[in-house]
Formats: sequence, C-alpha cells, structure tokens
Amino acid sequence: MNRKPLIAGNWKMNTTTGEAVSLVTQMLPELERIKDVEVAIFPPFVSLAPVYDLLAYSSVSLGAQNMHYEEKGAYTGEISALMLKSLCKYVIIGHSERRQLFGENNEIINKKLKKALQAGITPILCLGETLEHRQAGLAEETISYQLKSSLGDIPGIEYTVIAYEPIWAIGSGINAGADEVCQIMDVIRKTIAELYGKAAANSIRLLYGGSVNNINAGEYLSRESIDGALVGGASLKADQFIGIVRQACQTGI
Ligand code: PEP
Repeated sequence: MNRKPLIAGNWKMNTTTGEAVSLVTQMLPELERIKDVEVAIFPPFVSLAPVYDLLAYSSVSLGAQNMHYEEKGAYTGEISALMLKSLCKYVIIGHSERRQLFGENNEIINKKLKKALQAGITPILCLGETLEHRQAGLAEETISYQLKSSLGDIPGIEYTVIAYEPIWAIGSGINAGADEVCQIMDVIRKTIAELYGKAAANSIRLLYGGSVNNINAGEYLSRESIDGALVGGASLKADQFIGIVRQACQTGI
C-alpha cells in the first residue's frame, strides 16, 4: 500500500503573526524542493490567513490545531470547521494537551471529528497513553479504547490521519522506542480493520509524535508501519524541521 509520508509541524501557542510569517518564509524554499513527502504546518489561529497566503501555489499544506464542534453561535473564543475550511486542509483533534488541560474527552472528540469530516477537513486524531498506563502494561488497551470511543458511530474514515503520541514522550525529550511505536501502530491498524475493513486499515496514515527531532526521526520514518511524524518543538526550528522532512524523503516510507 502506497501511503504518502506526512510530516506535520504543530507550533502550539508559539509565534506571533510576524514570527510565523518569517518562519514560513525561511523554510518554504527548502521544503518546496523536497519531493514525495507531504508537509503540513499548524500555526496558531491568528496566523492561518497570512500563512495561507504565503503557501498559495506551494506544496505545503496548512492545518489548524483545534476547532469547536458547533458551526457557529454563542461560543466566545471558539473557531468552527466552517471558518477553517477555506484555509485548512487538516485539523488536529484530541491532542493530549487539549484532553489534559481543556477537559476534552472522547465524546467531544467524536463530535469534532464528525464536523471536520462533514466540512471536508482531514482530521489528525491524536491518541496516547500516560506513563502510568504504559508502566501498568495498559498502553495497547488504552489506545484501542480511545480509538473506538473517539470514532464512535462515524461511518467512514477515509483520509483521516491518526497520530500516536504517548503523553510521556511529548515535549519531554524522552522519545518512545521505534519497536514500541510499531506495536501500537499494529493495534491501531487492527482496530481500524475491525471497524472499517482491511482497505481502510491499509490506506490510513499513522504518525508518531513525541520528542521527534532531526537526530531520531529516521528511527521511526524507516519503519514500514509508521507513515510520518507529528512534530512539536522541533517544528519551530527551521533547520530541525527541514532535517526531519529530508529524512522522510530519504527513507522512502
Ligand atoms: C506534539 O505537540 O504533538 C509533540 C509531539 O510535541 P514534541 O515534538 O515537542 O514532543
């Protein structure tokens, strides 16, 4: 199955609009030269429009870090899929920081996934276990539960991307071992096959996220079952991010 590698850069709550424009301007010429890898960047909401203009006619995709599941109304401070759809190809749903700091549960995530898919925005659904669950031998069970309950009654998941991001590896500098990640990728693909059939399981792209940098990226990107990376901290450093994208190209995943 030919799954195009995807390297996604989640900038989180970093960069002013000016800094976002300057980071994209710095990276774009080099990113444009790298073929056969899809690159997507996820700046803060306020930078989406200016970055969209910079990326026009480029091969780099744009995404949002979050969205609300309602289309419009009295939800002060929120942004809907309707507002994002003219700017974004992707939206990150269920990032562990949203789950831990903003009380997002699988039910809310399910509503967001539905709205994103209805709007034609590809969700990147994030899943990940805590250190306690990993140490108790519950990582596979946790991921399978999160996946099944987030997808709920969604009839099809064509084009959806799933990011496996163990919570203990995010922003900690402690990246998960590639063998550990592959085991979880197998669980995810098996669960998708149960829910949506083998074709869906073979075509869905699975990313690893958690302290990926330009030194360790190749360990993941060389594995058959890992189709790319969701990168936080290292996506804010032009040379690091470009280095990761180059490795996705070299390993030819
Ligand atoms: C993330 O925020 O999704 C992430 C993986 O962060 P970091 O690469 O900094 O661990």
